[in-house]
Amino acid sequence: MIRQTVAHVDLAAIEANLKAIASFLAVPTANTQPPASAGRAAPRIIAVVKANAYGHGAGEVGLALERAGAAMLACADIEEGIVLRRAGVRLPILVFGALGISDLDGVFDYELTPTISTPMAAQHLEEAAARQKDRRRSRLRCHLKIDTGMNRLGFRHDNIERTLPAIAHSAHLSIDGVYTHFATADDPEHPAFGEQRERFEHVLARLPALGITPNGRHAANSAALLRDERVWYDFVRPGLLLYGIVPPPLAAMLPLRPALSLHSRIVHVKGTRPGEGTGYGLHSVSDRPRTIAIVPAGYADGLDRRMAGRAFMLVRGKRVPVIGSVCMDMTMIDVTGLDVAPGDNVVIVGAQGSEEIGMREIAASIGTIPYELLCRVGTRIERQYDGR
Ligand SMILES: *Cc1c(COP(=O)(O)O)cnc(C)c1O
Repeated sequence: MIRQTVAHVDLAAIEANLKAIASFLAVPTANTQPPASAGRAAPRIIAVVKANAYGHGAGEVGLALERAGAAMLACADIEEGIVLRRAGVRLPILVFGALGISDLDGVFDYELTPTISTPMAAQHLEEAAARQKDRRRSRLRCHLKIDTGMNRLGFRHDNIERTLPAIAHSAHLSIDGVYTHFATADDPEHPAFGEQRERFEHVLARLPALGITPNGRHAANSAALLRDERVWYDFVRPGLLLYGIVPPPLAAMLPLRPALSLHSRIVHVKGTRPGEGTGYGLHSVSDRPRTIAIVPAGYADGLDRRMAGRAFMLVRGKRVPVIGSVCMDMTMIDVTGLDVAPGDNVVIVGAQGSEEIGMREIAASIGTIPYELLCRVGTRIERQYDGR
């Protein structure tokens, strides 16, 4: 038994996207002076699979990225790391989130690489690692997060002389990596991006004096790696690009294929008379007779209520408007003039014939970002994997 609304996840596309990013990184474009990568090995990829791999399914996607050559995976919290390990992922797994108040057993039981982003997390990890010392011979490998201006997680860049020495001297932790995160990577005009890069480099230059000599430095999410090769360092951390979507408003600079498409089937067709609306609130009143089709997917499946009156779906190779109101389990589309019947295929996201609707388009039409729409594809929707 399977519901009418399903998500197809193309794992071969995700693998190809990872390889396309790797090729992009292998060839410095010299669009920046001086290229940080001159004479150095190409950066390796930490593939970001937080939030159930942006809704695509963490286990399947994690294994596909491992096959395709990712150096490391990254997720939001320990629980996500455990899901990846249970699926069979063997790559190192970096946990981004703050761990100051977390139950840390999973870090040790599942061999995760935690981020130290606060003094409290450092202390908490040091104590937990000390308790584990009979079980483990080596120190716990960690990455250190530096806050270069986003003002979210990380040690303030201008305060590290005070905060980091204690961590450098901790007996049970080893600092393998150091990273930061950009607040404005997707805004090519914003001056904070360059300021953050300079602050990060200033921190990197001061670390050895504080007793910290990490192997891996990293900073770039998808948008940052596209726009400035000076922030490639030793690793880059793409998320959205892996799923085949370029972060708006940036333009595609490498060949990517969207990995997720969302399909349904019409379950009911009916006519309305002039002057009638449809759905809750009876919106979308028309002065003409219309044919309306019901699609069995609603906001419980991750569709957004703002799609009504703004977004489109594909039926019989044509774009048809979403009308009325997006309900919990159903959505109405206007199929007037098309020869449709129950059972006909509907594409909510993806291609049909020569038409295509992407997550970027839907996000733009309702004033959000593709990230949000991807993560929201509901748990009720079965993911069907191709290219496994
Ligand atoms: C989510 C995330 C990324 C990936 O961001 P994209 O914009 O999807 O490439 C990278 N680094 C950190 C710390 C993140 O939280």
